Amino acid sequence: MKLIIASNNQGKIREMKEILSPLGYEPISMKEAGIDIDIIEDGETFSENARIKAQAIYEIAKMPVLADDSGLAVDFLDGAPGVYSARYAGENASDKDRMNKLLEELEGVDKSLRGAKFVCSLYFIKDDETEICVSGECHGFIGEEPLGDNGFGYDPIFMIEDDISMACIPAEEKNKISHRAKALQSLVEELSE
Ligand code: IMP
Repeated sequence: MKLIIASNNQGKIREMKEILSPLGYEPISMKEAGIDIDIIEDGETFSENARIKAQAIYEIAKMPVLADDSGLAVDFLDGAPGVYSARYAGENASDKDRMNKLLEELEGVDKSLRGAKFVCSLYFIKDDETEICVSGECHGFIGEEPLGDNGFGYDPIFMIEDDISMACIPAEEKNKISHRAKALQSLVEELSE
C-alpha cells in the first residue's frame, strides 16, 4: 500500500522506508505524490503539528499519509525550544546558530539542570476512519560545547553520556535509540495489531 511521507527530508524518508516496507507499505515522498504545498505548522505541541501536516495532505491526496514533527525540549528552559526548535535562532539561521543560542542561554547553568529530551510525534492517517498518533522520546542533557560530526541539528550538543554526544555515534546506533526510532517502533506495533 502506497503511503505518503509528509516531508521532503530524504533522511527521514529513508529511515521510514526501511522500517515500513517490511510491513507492506511503500513510502513515497510528497514530491513523488505530486504534492507541493506549504503547510503552516502553528500547533502548540509536536503531535498537533504532525496532525496538521497529515490532515492537510490527506485532504488533497485521499491516500495513506504519515507526518512527523520533532524537536528538542530543555528542562531549564521549561521545554523550550520545543515546537520552535527549527526556528529557534530565526528563519534563516543554521544548525550552528541554533546550538550557539542554546549554549548561551545555558551559560553557567549546572549540569544537574541541563537535562533535555528529543521528542518525535508521528501522525498516521490510513483512511477516513483510521488515524494513529504516537510519540517517542530520547533523554540526555545539553553539553558545554559541540562534540562530534555525525547526525544533524542539535546532535553535537545533545549528550547521551558524559563525553558522548548524539553526533559522536554512527547513524545505525542513533537509529536504535532516537526519538524517531522509538516513535516508529510504536507505530509499527500499532499497525501490526
Ligand atoms: P522537524 O521535525 O524537521 O521540523 O525538526 C525540527 C527541528 O528539531 C530540526 O530543525 C532540528 O533542529 C531539531 N531536531 C529534530 N530531530 C533531531 C535530531 O534527531 N537531532 C538533532 N536535532 C533534531
